[in-house]
Amino acid sequence: MSIDLEALYTDLHKHPELSFHETRTAGIAAGHLRALGLEVEEGIGVTGVVGVLRNGEGPVVWLRADMDALPVEEQTGLAYASTAHGIAPSGAEVPVMHACGHDMHVTALIGALERLVEQRADWSGTVVAIVQPAEEFGAGAKAMIADGVLERFPRPEVVLGQHVTPLPVGTIGVRAGTQMSASDGLTVTMHGRGGHGSRPHATIDPVVMAAAAVMRLQTVVSRETDPRDVAVVTVGSIHAGLKHNIIPAEARLELSLRYPDDAARERVLARVERILHAEAQASGAEVPPTIVTDHTLPPTINDAEATARVSAAVERALGAGTVIDPGMFTGSEDVSWFAREAGVPLVFWFFGGIDPHAYAAAVAGGTLERDIPTNHSPYFAPVPRPTIEVGVSALAAAAREFLDPVQGTGVRRSLER
Ligand code: ZN
Ligand code: ZN
Repeated sequence: MSIDLEALYTDLHKHPELSFHETRTAGIAAGHLRALGLEVEEGIGVTGVVGVLRNGEGPVVWLRADMDALPVEEQTGLAYASTAHGIAPSGAEVPVMHACGHDMHVTALIGALERLVEQRADWSGTVVAIVQPAEEFGAGAKAMIADGVLERFPRPEVVLGQHVTPLPVGTIGVRAGTQMSASDGLTVTMHGRGGHGSRPHATIDPVVMAAAAVMRLQTVVSRETDPRDVAVVTVGSIHAGLKHNIIPAEARLELSLRYPDDAARERVLARVERILHAEAQASGAEVPPTIVTDHTLPPTINDAEATARVSAAVERALGAGTVIDPGMFTGSEDVSWFAREAGVPLVFWFFGGIDPHAYAAAVAGGTLERDIPTNHSPYFAPVPRPTIEVGVSALAAAAREFLDPVQGTGVRRSLER
């Protein structure tokens, strides 16, 4: 009897769990993997699940799905909308929603595994299912690696993954090279000297220092980055002081930086640090700013040859014209840690989840940004049908491309780059 994937999806959607708290989701995934005959281990990298499908000699293909949800209050009005709550790292109780669509990724992975099991007479090799926690923290992949996922299970020869996105259903977006940017999250403390608001001359005002730094930081992109290149410098948080007439001792900034590759990362980080130090100096600060990296994510770089193979395989499965180049996304992912650590090719693609008629109407009306909710929006609502089926077909077809065919030529296609 086949798995009711739509029921699985709506159940996962209704019961979202925050990063590193995905115990129910992990249990459900592990149950399905076991029922399909995979060797399953749980608790890898806190809540991660690994399933191994051994099917004779041949390449080892990793299929990765992330499973965590976000602290967002769902506003979709769907019958299966979430009313769940969870505990944020701060200790606060927060609403929880699958606002990034990771419930779709888990569902599609289980569906693809079911299909590969059904087709097992036609291929040989090993498929490893990676159900990863805490992508939204940028920490889940690293936690699984730290827990020995590359040593305890068959090492990958290629890593494949996918993300649901606001494109029309049936459209697959993938490009060779940088698919998603690298990013760093920095917390910066600018140190001044506090005092009475009526006696500014006796203080070193960190508010003015921080304000000048925020404005000057805009020039990293506008004046120092080649207009043909992509970079983002966002100051997402600024905090200083408690009262009108007290000049505080310090100001705190939180920065989000994005770039397409490691070289651009080094350039932007150096410029940001230079400006922060120079503004502190310009204000006469006695202590240089403190800069702490809270998280760092590598660029998601798709291997060119493997991407060409995935594109061709997915087009064969879904039809001509279904695969497009969506350009580089300035969002970031931690999937590439697996491929980087193993030194193997990665292919990570996007699959549309939006009703094609609604999408076309929004394009025609010039209201795409307003009318089509994106990932992380409280209104993000991929249509289950046929998005699930597309995700299953794309992942299964991509996996088969790298596994050995049992019939036909019997020649193993090389994974060498
Ligand atoms: Zn997300
Ligand atoms: Zn996501």
